[in-house]
Amino acid sequence: MNKDIFKKNAHALVDWMADYYFDDVKSMPVRSQVKPGYVRDKIPLNAPVDAEEFEALFDDFKDIILPGMTHWQHPRFFAYFPANVSPPSVLAEMLTSIMGTNAMLWETSPAATELEEAMMDWLKGLMALSQNWSGVIQDTASSAVFCSVLAARERATNWLGNETGLKDQKALAFYTSAEAHSSVEKAVKMAGLGRASIRLVPTDDDFAMKPSALISMIDDDRKKGIEPAMLVATVGTTGVGASDPLEPLGVIARSNNMYFHVDAAWAGSAMVCPEYRYLMRGIESADSYAFNPHKWMGVNFDCTAHFVKDADTLKRTLTILPEYLKTREGNNVTDYRDWGIQLGRRMRALKLWFVIRSYGVEGLQSMFRQHVEIAEDLAEKIFMTDGFELVTKPNLSLLTFRKSGNSEIEGDQATEALLTKVNDDGFTYLTRTVVKGRSVIRFQVGQMNTTRDDVMATWDRIVELAGYP
Ligand SMILES: *Cc1c(COP(=O)(O)O)cnc(C)c1O
Repeated sequence: MNKDIFKKNAHALVDWMADYYFDDVKSMPVRSQVKPGYVRDKIPLNAPVDAEEFEALFDDFKDIILPGMTHWQHPRFFAYFPANVSPPSVLAEMLTSIMGTNAMLWETSPAATELEEAMMDWLKGLMALSQNWSGVIQDTASSAVFCSVLAARERATNWLGNETGLKDQKALAFYTSAEAHSSVEKAVKMAGLGRASIRLVPTDDDFAMKPSALISMIDDDRKKGIEPAMLVATVGTTGVGASDPLEPLGVIARSNNMYFHVDAAWAGSAMVCPEYRYLMRGIESADSYAFNPHKWMGVNFDCTAHFVKDADTLKRTLTILPEYLKTREGNNVTDYRDWGIQLGRRMRALKLWFVIRSYGVEGLQSMFRQHVEIAEDLAEKIFMTDGFELVTKPNLSLLTFRKSGNSEIEGDQATEALLTKVNDDGFTYLTRTVVKGRSVIRFQVGQMNTTRDDVMATWDRIVELAGYP
């Protein structure tokens, strides 16, 4: 593809992108309505021998791919958590993409590293984190917790895990709540520590980890000669948005010399607003903290802000230095390859820079506040609607509800049937979870272009669908 053809097609794509994002997506079904195999059947079995024109590729994108897309940027996407993009973030990704840089070392793009350091500092300021933190951008919260589990393992084994393996090491225990994200269990398994070393600490009526239960589990383990190695707390759980009490948990972690990681993958972005920071009270006692600007802050997936108190522990856990990676600058600069799992890493700081500058602190704050306000209004509406139960009140902008029934089982069945009907309808997209053994539907307001009208129209549609046999 030469320069002229590239330009012509790029302009055509930008026109399409703007129409899609600002207008057309609104009239598409939110969750893709295709059946399994629909897309696969339309792709030839073998790669083409002859070169094709770009117009043919773009036509096929529209005809074959688009119907198979679930539209995460649809203003009536209320499923999972958002994975917001924003126009300035997309523009940053265009630039990142054409430079195709690999930000593994300072030398492989000084601007990528230094902007990343600056953006991590900006985020500290935005969320009132102390200057004691150092930051790195990881691809996902799963990677951040994995890095922290590895650091905790190495600290607990005095760095022998890395040297001689885990065979001769004492047994370690990793504590998290039953509401924690599955990435914690996955990380412990990947770190070679085994699922059996995970303790799921019981939660209270608000789904927050019970400090007293944690203490008794630690005591039990100590009696058996098992060493408490790590505590992972959550601010904003995936199921219902609950938050663990960091302050007492931090005290327990400190007094047991445990590594303390806090996962705020979704809720963390909202800490730009001072009024929500009570959820983070006690964060300064943590060793590491991660949240995803790619969830709620309008920064394209992927972008996870991972903060650590002691960068040396993380680097000592992950560092490698073969001859071909040695550079002139040595220890005078940050080489982010030592801060994560992969060697090669994308430049993710540019989109963060563009987003924060384009909206400003106040622009971001007003988005979070609006989402939370709309979720609160919706909760009131659900509470007033016959035949429905508001199961959990909004935690920030996430609530859960269910269909009532003559029995709990009947309510479960009606709720599951309603969810299927709603998602097949295409007007909106919602996902489920289980709360205290009962099926519920999650409703999370977080897409950047979502308006109050979108949310209220969605509720009316849900009620309407529930009325059909
Ligand atoms: C979404 C989520 C994760 C996983 O995020 P990834 O970036 O996709 O790995 C982890 N923890 C919580 C609480 C989440 O909501």
